[in-house]
Amino acid sequence: VIGVISPWNMPMHLSHRSIAPALALGNAVVVKPAEETPISGGVMIAKIYEEAGLPGGLLNVVVGLAGVIGDMFTLHPVPKFISFTGSARVGRHIGQLAMQGSTLKRVGLELGGNAPCVVLDDADLDLAVRGALFGRFLHQGQICMSTNRIIVDASIYDEFVTRFIERASKLTYGDPSLIGTNIGPIISKRQLDGILAKINEAKASGLHLALGGEPQGLVLPPHVFIDVDNNSTLAQSELFGPVVPIIKAHGEEDALKLANQTEFGLSSAVFTRDEGRGLRFAKRIHAGMTHINDISVADSPNAMFGGEKNSGIGRFNSDWVIAEFTCDHLITTQSIPLQYPF
Ligand code: NAD
Repeated sequence: VIGVISPWNMPMHLSHRSIAPALALGNAVVVKPAEETPISGGVMIAKIYEEAGLPGGLLNVVVGLAGVIGDMFTLHPVPKFISFTGSARVGRHIGQLAMQGSTLKRVGLELGGNAPCVVLDDADLDLAVRGALFGRFLHQGQICMSTNRIIVDASIYDEFVTRFIERASKLTYGDPSLIGTNIGPIISKRQLDGILAKINEAKASGLHLALGGEPQGLVLPPHVFIDVDNNSTLAQSELFGPVVPIIKAHGEEDALKLANQTEFGLSSAVFTRDEGRGLRFAKRIHAGMTHINDISVADSPNAMFGGEKNSGIGRFNSDWVIAEFTCDHLITTQSIPLQYPF
């Protein structure tokens, strides 16, 4: 039995990317979706499987408050593997619990990120601006792989910043059901308040907010901080909203150093006109995934997914998830009786 705990930000996909391979590989599953998304992250998926004829009992959904059922879920002796997707804070807790119960458990921890989007001096500037913009503001920035920092070579920094702010200021925000809206609401007031606290702290610490605006309900307009120190709290936090710091790098080595200066290592992106240079740079980024001349957000069923450092333990998709959701079991048999020494 595999226990699946999933977040709210892509609830159907992030529950199902564990449920589907777990079932296909011969396991039963118990899912605990996030409190914010019990239907799309759990109940609706179970209903679809039920209608498709999945035998009863193979897929179960537990809905409720994490504070009440969370620890019990992980400590329960039945699940032998906990597939957790969520924040680094809760993931560490789950990892510790998995070692504490009456039965040791394996865990898959898919946690937060702080993806750098690095723009090298030979980048196609227009492509880099559009990529950094889409990689940050897609889904209001509520994606673990979202571009959380933009690191730009000093030689093109001013031009990049001018073009980026010009484009960001034209993003439309508001009702997501209207065609043409680029930025919709943040999931909840609690989440919005957390993002606003990070913005206010950054402003109070003297960081330069070049583009901002007041929230309208749960909709937060795009925020861009420039000339940001990579060691600042803003640059080191997973922002998970439409807020981005731009950081100046002095050459390729400095850009690499800045990109790697984070506790996280999920996804990343690098823009350069020289693919070979991009590949060499990508290999030196401490992250599970790097995209050359593309946005940091990418997930396809046939490509490995997973992070390094505090972004987690374990891999998803294709053969990688087979290794996660199965157990190796050595069985030997002797057709001719062996002679033992005694
Ligand atoms: P979260 O860690 O607050 O919650 C994730 C899940 O854990 C929820 O279902 C929640 O109810 C549950 N939970 C909380 N406390 C628990 C406990 N003690 N025991 C068991 N379950 C408990 O994360 P969130 O706010 O829902 O999601 C956003 C975070 O998820 C971000 O950090 C984001 O980067 C990360 N994330 C990572 C990936 C990835 O693949 N690496 C994908 C999406 C989101």
